[in-house]
Amino acid sequence: MSVTETGLRDELLATAIAMGEAGLNVGTSGNASVRWNKRILITPSGIAATACTAADMAELDSSGTSRGPLAPSSEWQLHRDIYAAFPQAGAIVHAHAPFATALACQRRGIPAFHYMIARFGGTDVRCAPYATFGTQALSDRVVDALTGRSACLLSNHGMVVYGRDLAHALAQAIEFETLCEQYWRTLQLGEPVLLSAAEMADVIERFRWYGRPRADARS
Ligand code: 13P
Ligand code: ZN
Repeated sequence: MSVTETGLRDELLATAIAMGEAGLNVGTSGNASVRWNKRILITPSGIAATACTAADMAELDSSGTSRGPLAPSSEWQLHRDIYAAFPQAGAIVHAHAPFATALACQRRGIPAFHYMIARFGGTDVRCAPYATFGTQALSDRVVDALTGRSACLLSNHGMVVYGRDLAHALAQAIEFETLCEQYWRTLQLGEPVLLSAAEMADVIERFRWYGRPRADARS
């Protein structure tokens, strides 16, 4: 086992535990993965992250053949297909986070109610139509809903977020859950005033350089 693989296994387990600590997942809900060479390291199925060791993280190739002492997450097709469809995805987290799931159970996507929606690639975040967990149908619907986006809701289920690496995917998932909570709260007061296409275009332009080192600014 190479140093890189060892490090990634540790980081994947730490990410899965951190998802629970951040309130994104409870018990065996949710899963996480990271690209590793032409393969994927993914959390095992049906076992809480706190009960796992780094050696329990399953290894998967693109044909779906897995290696390891435990079966890979039941959502392995969804993870595999997101990596295939979006080359910029380096790590993926799937969670049944409370506010994202509340919205997903209404089967409602998130419109441009707040400028931070642009963090996820566009002017809204879609809600993928319902399909049974762990199926190719769910994977197909999620990949569609992620077109041009790095997050989506899954009807009557939860959310999926990808990032360039595990730290980024986890941070984005926490930001996304916060945005879902803000949308949920504003809905208590009625329908929010939405940002216009022009206002969102300004935001998307500013996000091209926001948070980048000075040398990269406005490049
Ligand atoms: P796994 O334990 O198989 O990863 O399943 C959890 C889950 O969230 C299924 O959608
Ligand atoms: Zn799930």
